[in-house]
Amino acid sequence: MKGTTHLAVGAGIGVTAAFVYPIRLEDAILYAAVTAFSALSADLDGTNLLSAKLGKVSRFIRESALWTGILSVGCLSWLYFARGLLYPKLAIAAVSLLLLGLLMKQGFMRNLLVSLIGAGLIYAGWNFRLYGLIGLGVFVAWAPWLNHRGLTHTVWAVIAWGAIARAFEEEWGIPGLMNFAVAGYLSHLLLDTMTPSGVKWLFPISKKSFKIRF
Ligand SMILES: [Zn+2]
Repeated sequence: MKGTTHLAVGAGIGVTAAFVYPIRLEDAILYAAVTAFSALSADLDGTNLLSAKLGKVSRFIRESALWTGILSVGCLSWLYFARGLLYPKLAIAAVSLLLLGLLMKQGFMRNLLVSLIGAGLIYAGWNFRLYGLIGLGVFVAWAPWLNHRGLTHTVWAVIAWGAIARAFEEEWGIPGLMNFAVAGYLSHLLLDTMTPSGVKWLFPISKKSFKIRF
């Protein structure tokens, strides 16, 4: 399944849900971003975008995300290290954008960069005693080195992703975050289940690949 499909479905779920729940625009954007990000995270293992040729739209999304991410992370790092100013929510948004851009790249350097970002998240999480951040860091640092459509494409990953989101929900005071994150992540696995190679939902307990064909 192509990255843009995952992104579109994830963002769609987020926007729809944001309309159903009466929330502020700012929150709606946040929920849509969380759902879209969750809908792509399973492919931090580098899965399908390896084989899919990037279309113009995907390339544009990738480059915009990558460069906006790099610039924002740069600015926020400067503000933090030179001025002692910390903007946690903006920082998370910037790192997510950067990851989004990297998600659509491939190769050893990409994996190394993704893992470095994961290590950075673990470090920040440890520093501020934010367990959600530590969990996300472990996921991000680990995922690139897993087999394609392996552990990140299982029910266990959905549970782990839900637990990470739950910790974020409590530590950052964002009610309902877990539901959006799980919905986004599940949408990814369901869409992949509709592709010819399917998804090994119960890996490594069972190597059976589940498929839904129409
Ligand atoms: Zn996938």
